[in-house]
Amino acid sequence: MAEPKYGRVLLKISGEGLCKIGQGGIDGEEVRKLAEEIKLVFELGTQVGVVVGGGNIVRGSVISKDSPIEETTGHYMGMLATVVNALAVQDTLESLGVPTRVQSALTIEAVCERFIRRRAIRHLEKGRVVIFAGGTGNPFVTTDTGAALRAAEIRADVLLKATKVDGVYTADPMTDPSATRIERLTYNEVIDRRLGVMDLSAVDLCQRSRVSIIVLDLKKPGNIRAVVQGESVGTLINGGE
Ligand code: UDP
Repeated sequence: MAEPKYGRVLLKISGEGLCKIGQGGIDGEEVRKLAEEIKLVFELGTQVGVVVGGGNIVRGSVISKDSPIEETTGHYMGMLATVVNALAVQDTLESLGVPTRVQSALTIEAVCERFIRRRAIRHLEKGRVVIFAGGTGNPFVTTDTGAALRAAEIRADVLLKATKVDGVYTADPMTDPSATRIERLTYNEVIDRRLGVMDLSAVDLCQRSRVSIIVLDLKKPGNIRAVVQGESVGTLINGGE
């Protein structure tokens, strides 16, 4: 088999990757499919870090709207939701024979390690998939920013942003049939055109740390491995080099 193009990747999965489309919570079958996709990359010998979102359970801005729950509390609830998701991904990966560690930005020592950058890199070098939970550990941002941060910290070759569509489109492909996929973009184009791929703070962070982003469809079988093997899938965002 050909050498993988990337030696170390950071995969960002939204909480909705863990449930059926249009639903919330955790669906065991969807988590298993996701774990199978991660295993395909792991088997290439590529080191894999995973950042999981929590939107399938709680989003801080949503749960605090017209509610006695303060927005800050809501964001911490969202961060805790990412830990719940991380544990589901962990056990499912391990049931498939993939060794893992969960590291959280919020310390919950009974269930996972806390995030320690050098230890995370060591786990990756030892062939463990490291699942990063708790986002950044700070309210008012999202796990996209957490993913950009962790990608920079572990010096990932690329940040794979898994979404519902296979890349960035000229318009919303769900509503506009004339929308076409854009193969390459620069960070500045994403920021200036407000393309809504990821939080702008996450794109900015990737630009500053020179981490390329690939936006791809999570639910297409074999897609993540195809990207890691260098196939042109989704939309590549970098400095234009
Ligand atoms: N969150 C936060 N700080 C972080 C990451 C997440 O406050 O660093 C909260 C925020 O309220 C967010 C929720 O956790 O809405 C769930 O994360 P996110 O919306 O990024 O999940 P996803 O959309 O990826 O499922």
